[in-house]
Amino acid sequence: MILQSELTLIPDCEFFPDRDLSSLTTFKLASRADYLEVKSVAALQKVVPLLHKYKKDYLVLGWGANQILPATSDKLVIHLSFPFDNKYLETLRDEYVVPASLGINHLTGHAVKFGMKGWEVFTGIPASLGGALYMNAGTNLGEIGNIVKDVTLVTTAGHLRTEIMNSESFTYRHNHFVKPGEIIVGATLKNQGQDPALPQKIKDYLDYRKTSQPLATKNCGCVFKNPCKEMQAGRLIDLLGLKGLSVGGLRVSPKHANFMENTQNANWDDFRALVDTINLEMNHFYGIEFELEVKIP
Ligand SMILES: Cc1cc2nc3c(=O)[nH]c(=O)nc-3n(C[C@H](O)[C@H](O)[C@H](O)COP(=O)(O)OP(=O)(O)OC[C@H]3O[C@@H](n4cnc5c(N)ncnc54)[C@H](O)[C@@H]3O)c2cc1C
Repeated sequence: MILQSELTLIPDCEFFPDRDLSSLTTFKLASRADYLEVKSVAALQKVVPLLHKYKKDYLVLGWGANQILPATSDKLVIHLSFPFDNKYLETLRDEYVVPASLGINHLTGHAVKFGMKGWEVFTGIPASLGGALYMNAGTNLGEIGNIVKDVTLVTTAGHLRTEIMNSESFTYRHNHFVKPGEIIVGATLKNQGQDPALPQKIKDYLDYRKTSQPLATKNCGCVFKNPCKEMQAGRLIDLLGLKGLSVGGLRVSPKHANFMENTQNANWDDFRALVDTINLEMNHFYGIEFELEVKIP
């Protein structure tokens, strides 16, 4: 309670006790927790040390496109909502200093307008910039790490730390610079020149995604990691004949077997049960089990 009242005294912070979070993830599983919206970097610099002082666990929720939140959680859910003037992206720049809360769809819009070379890598991925950097989001066109010059974070002590990216900063769907408890607040993206073919490349890739993924459903993207490059998780699940399999309000997508669709009001238990069923079959037929690609706090 003391923590709660201290948080509400910080300017640019809005605290929502026991909030319904189901609308804040793309999967829309039933979930509740205390929720804090932070509207400036300065506020976040006050919030993070305070949480450490009171030993309060927390997690960051970006667009919630890659997180499964449990039905209830003792962790404080932090969501960043930093100011950003969209006019910034109406001009071609040498480099781009952008906040972590920005949706990367805005960056794709800029890429199409100016033909930003190399910016096709995150086409169609639902994400905040912070979530995309944390996950090193990417497609078979490449990954976001390729176009990042530096990333700024708030440390657990509330200081700002800017990390210059190098060849070891990112690996597949993984970053190597966010330390436990740190929160990404922004990044500088590179202008690598212009590519007149880029708008068409992006359009073609969006069309391809529409036909291959169940984009109109409530889902969390790919649920499982591919066991290796040669073994696609979706293909393996398909071979087991599990497309369309339902548990509670969840089903394995008939369109792409590594996606689960929330067809009714699915919850955490349905998710666990469907994951366990798939892994039981995997173990039985292939002697291996999948690892989750989605994050579970
Ligand atoms: C339909 C669909 C298609 C998808 N396709 C792809 C795809 O092609 N390629 C791909 O890579 N992914 C894909 N995904 C997964 C997802 O879009 C990405 O993982 C994306 O990067 C998640 O961003 P987010 O803002 O939603 O992060 P969240 O899901 O909210 O968070 C993901 C992780 O990042 C951490 N995080 C978020 N913001 C911050 C921050 N500011 N500082 C520190 N940590 C932070 C969270 O705590 C969590 O651990 C897809 C998802 C959906 C629903």
